[in-house]
Amino acid sequence: MPRISKENALLFATILGVIVGIALGLALRDPDAKWSKRHLSYLRFPGDVFVQMLKMLILPMIISSIISSLASLDSGTAGRLGLVAMMYYVMTTFSAVFLGIILVMTIKPGYWVETNIKELVGDVKTSPCISYPIDTVLDLVKSMFPENLLEAAFKSEKICMTYYNGSTKLAPEYALTLSPEQRRMFIETPEKVVSDGMNIMGLVVFSVALGATVGFVGEEGKGLKEFFKSLEAVSMKMLGVVIMYSPVGITFLIAAQIVGMKDPGKELQRLMGYVITVISGLFIHAFIILPFLCVVLARRNPLKYVSGMAQALLTALATSSSSATLPLSIKCCEENNHVDPRVTRFVLPLGATINMDGTALYEAVAAIYISQCYGQDLSIGQVILVSLTATLASIGAAGIPQAGIVTMIMVLIAIGLPTNLFILIFPVDFILDRIRTTVNVHGDSIGACVVEKLCEKQLKEAEKHLIAQEEAQA
Ligand code: ASP
Repeated sequence: MPRISKENALLFATILGVIVGIALGLALRDPDAKWSKRHLSYLRFPGDVFVQMLKMLILPMIISSIISSLASLDSGTAGRLGLVAMMYYVMTTFSAVFLGIILVMTIKPGYWVETNIKELVGDVKTSPCISYPIDTVLDLVKSMFPENLLEAAFKSEKICMTYYNGSTKLAPEYALTLSPEQRRMFIETPEKVVSDGMNIMGLVVFSVALGATVGFVGEEGKGLKEFFKSLEAVSMKMLGVVIMYSPVGITFLIAAQIVGMKDPGKELQRLMGYVITVISGLFIHAFIILPFLCVVLARRNPLKYVSGMAQALLTALATSSSSATLPLSIKCCEENNHVDPRVTRFVLPLGATINMDGTALYEAVAAIYISQCYGQDLSIGQVILVSLTATLASIGAAGIPQAGIVTMIMVLIAIGLPTNLFILIFPVDFILDRIRTTVNVHGDSIGACVVEKLCEKQLKEAEKHLIAQEEAQA
């Protein structure tokens, strides 16, 4: 009983953190005397410490949890878990994309107000690289097999297109402003871009392979199995301490965001239709489709399940990062919702990297909204292309803040729109990012209980088998 009240107290403190963060942000916000970036970073500091602590735990937690969960499963059960998880991911991602497309094509937010493209897009400030759909697939496959495991813990690589005019390289800002036809006049060269941030996909694949092999070799792998089990237990305990600090971190992350926000009035008016469409889609997916799957496939009470995940969902809202939220998602799923750790520790890290329902929905809406503003009606073929590339773009997006807007450029390329048009939706992206990240985490957590239910029989048998094996050894 006292354990429950401690959890409730923490959740209450986190909700209070969100409210205090909003109030503090509004109180400190002063549109006339703008906060400098330096002062803003001081205000965000307690929040940054929280995000860093969560990120610090990702590596020991994913590696140890995947390895120890797979080491305790036979290959048949592990294969079934993986297959069911993949089927769930494909089904939910496609339904999110489909929902987004239906909404944006019926609401038609791009026609709500006239958009002066020239005035709005003239100034390109950010310079994401140009990746084609095929690059994203190849990058994804390549990142599964990192050539250096240590490097994969803090660096990720991707291929970007660069453009040469004779021997002179065009600035990416300039290349982005060109239409596909204009770009064809330059020499296109793929270049490797290394960026900060963990290659989670590579680490997941390596851990899956190591965990499955440890389970397969039996006696010889016992030492490693014990080691990772103990690392996992200790990391979980450390996470318990970090979570105590989450209400403080969340308060300052939210306050700093509100204080630093540019006056959204005019932009919000222009983008109102788009914001309404994305948010309605995310709400329908989160409150109708996912709970429906929770009831029908997992036979669980969705309200109870979601309230068990509240701590993780609020963290996703505050950090805009499903990777940073991963340790908390695992903890909430296991401790509050009692999902089998062999499932959560395998399925959640995988989901945090490739299953992003919120991002997929947003990518589809954003691309079609932009085409409406641009005055280009899409053919059926192009709409199908949007659905495929939006799915791919969500798989390719890292679980970090605003990764989705970068991969959305690929959707624009696929339907032949100028890539710099993404600027049209940039002003409100930070708000939508928080909401779609929360939906991403929600989708992963429902996935865990669905996979658990659909693999119930195999999991029970694997457990019996393990107990028999341990008894025989003793
Ligand atoms: N921020 C999102 C996430 O971490 C990715 C995105 O930008 O859509 O899940």
